[in-house]
Amino acid sequence: MAIRSIRWTPDIWMTRPDGRLRLTLLGGALGSGKTTWARHQLHLARFGRSVHVLVNEAAETPIDDQLLTGAQGVTVLAGGCACCTGRAALMASLRELCNRRSSGGALQPDRVLLETSGLADPGAIVRAIQADPVLLHHILLDEVIVAVDALHALAQLRDEPLCRRQIAAADRMILTKADVAPPAALNILRATLRQENGHAATEACAFGETLPLPPLPPEAIAVKLPDPDAADCRGPPVTASLRLPAGLDWSDTLLWLSALLHARGDEIVRVKGVLRTPAGRILLQSVCKVVQQPEILPDTAKARADDVLVVIGRGFRGAELDRSIRRFLGGAP
Ligand SMILES: [Zn+2]
Repeated sequence: MAIRSIRWTPDIWMTRPDGRLRLTLLGGALGSGKTTWARHQLHLARFGRSVHVLVNEAAETPIDDQLLTGAQGVTVLAGGCACCTGRAALMASLRELCNRRSSGGALQPDRVLLETSGLADPGAIVRAIQADPVLLHHILLDEVIVAVDALHALAQLRDEPLCRRQIAAADRMILTKADVAPPAALNILRATLRQENGHAATEACAFGETLPLPPLPPEAIAVKLPDPDAADCRGPPVTASLRLPAGLDWSDTLLWLSALLHARGDEIVRVKGVLRTPAGRILLQSVCKVVQQPEILPDTAKARADDVLVVIGRGFRGAELDRSIRRFLGGAP
C-alpha cells in the first residue's frame, strides 16, 4: 500500500508551495536505527532548519529524545504508540503545531519529523491524519521513511506481520547497519524488500552516514514469506521500564543484560537505557541478541530518563525483570 510516491530531492525539503506544514514520518522496527539516522540527518540539516521533531516511544520513560539535537524543537509522546493507544496525543500535538504556524509567532516549524515507536504501523498513522479534517487541511504528508535493520530484518519480516506493514507503507527504505551485513545476505534482504514493496527507493547507511548501494544483481532471490493474512498469534510485544540505582557500575548492568539475552534472547526484542555512571552518561542498548557498543552521551539538562532500562519483548513481566536486576546488582530484593 503506497501512501505517497513523491521522491526525495533536496528542494522538496526546502519548498512549501502551498503553505501547509510538511510531515515526514520515520518508522521501522524496534532497534532498527531510526534515531541514529534521524540524528545524523538533523545534524546535516537535511530536513531544513525549521523542523520540529515529534518522538513517540511506547514506553513511559522516553530515551530517544535525548539523542536528538539540531531540531528547532522536540516534543516527546511517551507512554502510548502513536498509531493506536497514543493516537489522541499525536493528533493533539500536530494540531498544536498547526496552530503555532497559523498564529504567526516565533518558532514556526516548516516541517515535522515524526519518529514513531518501533511498534507503530505508519499506515495507521497516515489514515488517522487523513481522517481528521483539520489536519488534512493543514498538513502535507510528503514521505514515509522506514529504517530497516540489515542484520535482523529478514527474521523480523518472517516473524512480525507489523514489520511487513511498516515496509509496505514506505516511500523510502533506509538499510541501516549495512556496513556489517554480509553482501550476499544484504542482496537477499533487498530482493525480499522489493518483493514486499516494489515502489520504495532504497538507501544504505552505517551510523547514519549514507553508503553507496550497488545495483541489485539479477540473481538475488527473495525469501518467501508466510501468508500475510495469517493472524499474528504471538500478540504485540510488552514494554517494561526498570528503574536502576544511580551511580552503579555500568559493566555490571551490561553483564546482567548479556545474561538476560543469553537466557531469553528469543523473546527480548529490544533493550535501551541511559545510565549515569562515574564515567559519564552511558547509552546501553541491544537489538535482538546483539548488544551494541556502549556510547558515552553528552551531559544534558534533560537527564530525567537516566537510570532507566527499557525492555521490550514477550513472555516476561516487568516485576520479574525488576527483581532479577536488583538482585544481580546487589540492590533491594
Ligand atoms: Zn500502535
